[in-house]
Amino acid sequence: MRLPRPRFAFCPVAFRPSRRAAAMAQLRASSSSSVTTFDYLVLGGGSGGLASARRAAQLGVRAAVVEKGRLGGTCVNVGCVPKKVMWNTAVHSEFIHDHMDYGFKIADVKFNWKIIKEKRDAYVKKLNEIYQNNLNKDHVETIRGHALFTADPEPTIEVDGKKYTAPHILIATGGRPVIPSESEIPGASLGISSDGFFELEELPKRSVIVGAGYIAVELAGILSALGSRTSLLIRFNEVLRNFDSMISSNCTQELEHNGIEVWKHCKIQSVTKSASGLLAITVTSSFPNKKPTVNTIENVDCLLWAIGREPSTEELNLDQLNIKVDKAGHIIVDEFQNTSRKGIYAVGDVCGKALLTPVAIAAGRKLAHRLFENKKDFKLDYTNIPTVVFSHPPIGTVGLTEAEAVNAYGEENVKIYTTSFVPMYHAITERKTRCVMKLVCATKQEKVVGLHMQGLGCDEMLQGFAVAVKMGATKADFDQTVAIHPTSSEELVTLR
Ligand SMILES: Cc1cc2nc3c(=O)[nH]c(=O)nc-3n(C[C@H](O)[C@H](O)[C@H](O)COP(=O)(O)OP(=O)(O)OC[C@H]3O[C@@H](n4cnc5c(N)ncnc54)[C@H](O)[C@@H]3O)c2cc1C
Repeated sequence: MRLPRPRFAFCPVAFRPSRRAAAMAQLRASSSSSVTTFDYLVLGGGSGGLASARRAAQLGVRAAVVEKGRLGGTCVNVGCVPKKVMWNTAVHSEFIHDHMDYGFKIADVKFNWKIIKEKRDAYVKKLNEIYQNNLNKDHVETIRGHALFTADPEPTIEVDGKKYTAPHILIATGGRPVIPSESEIPGASLGISSDGFFELEELPKRSVIVGAGYIAVELAGILSALGSRTSLLIRFNEVLRNFDSMISSNCTQELEHNGIEVWKHCKIQSVTKSASGLLAITVTSSFPNKKPTVNTIENVDCLLWAIGREPSTEELNLDQLNIKVDKAGHIIVDEFQNTSRKGIYAVGDVCGKALLTPVAIAAGRKLAHRLFENKKDFKLDYTNIPTVVFSHPPIGTVGLTEAEAVNAYGEENVKIYTTSFVPMYHAITERKTRCVMKLVCATKQEKVVGLHMQGLGCDEMLQGFAVAVKMGATKADFDQTVAIHPTSSEELVTLR
């Protein structure tokens, strides 16, 4: 049974004079001595924070969200959503090459970056409004501003000089992209991050992306498909090195096949800007057993760092509360999202594990049910989380890589099934992409513990197969499922 919806009956709590004296020393001159109390206070209005606060409010508690920027967080504003719009745009560009082969005559194709940027920004703005409306509908209070913990003995937040507290506080402040410091790489600040990518007013003519993770791969693919001459600078031989080895090598080949210059084993030494405003990037390439070479990439109008993300914990004053963080600053939580301080929890990117929107949402919702619906065992199961990389063609992966399975079960207990083919879509096109698939099976029963693929449609193909893997399906279960013909996905149930 649902409890009645709250009506925002805030209760100002006066601090005892001794406590107030200690706290006041830490607070800004404008701060007030009273504290507004909620049942649930959520720091960060991104994927995890919004989902948790809304679910808590739906369960009948007084919840508030503190957000310093735009509602929706990384995913909505500078992540999944605008990225997917750009990926769709890039896919249009690729398919235009195939239209002639399919009998269409298309003359004078022109691409206008400004049009798609305007439409994308308008869509994101609409989502920001929808998120605000949803909070209002669920009676979640929105507090605008930067939250930080005060020195008060009871966990307390200060936002713009006002104090707030709750018996349950969730930290869902996410993360932000890293750009090397000027002392590490002179001129590094001349580059942008993935956040800056979404501010570009024009398609760059010459792009250099640094990084080998999924964001680097996705943004390089988008820029290249839309017509920017693109180089991808990576430290080792392949991209996506924490994926299954088949995916790493196939994705690296596809990037090169699509015209992206992949600079391997390289390190950026410096970046300079010429009078024309274009950048020159000096790079050292150090291939194993070869003499290092130094090259300069010139006339670059977009240098994009995609070398990782760091948690937004620094400005929270976490040490006030003795909340444990790891070396990188991620908040350490247990399997129930509890931090080292009772009554304070963390979900999403700020914890540094499985940095994905649905993970943050699911963990946030489970937590709300555990805290406010007495579902004591509710927690997110972090195994078999499906992941898609919106590369060209897209990658879908769930479960263990081959190397992880061998590690976990022993080589003799792991059986691998693979296939590689050109999808039927390309039977009549000059342009080709390849589809690769791998099933990682373990034990005598050949339980499918990993499924990895890259190819046209693999992004949409994965979710259903992820259900099967989560349910513990075996290779025999796959084999007993009648194929859908003609599709690429039928290969997964006919592997031999
Ligand atoms: C380019 C890119 C593409 C991505 N693509 C995908 C994808 O395709 N699929 C996918 O699942 N994931 C994707 N992600 C990852 C996804 O965006 C994140 O995993 C997700 O947004 C994490 O949610 P979160 O709630 O932990 O943090 P966030 O969504 O980052 O939200 C944190 C919020 O907290 C606010 N905040 C921070 N500090 C404070 C403070 N002190 N006071 C008040 N507010 C504060 C921030 O402003 C922010 O709004 C992508 C990320 C990037 C960068």
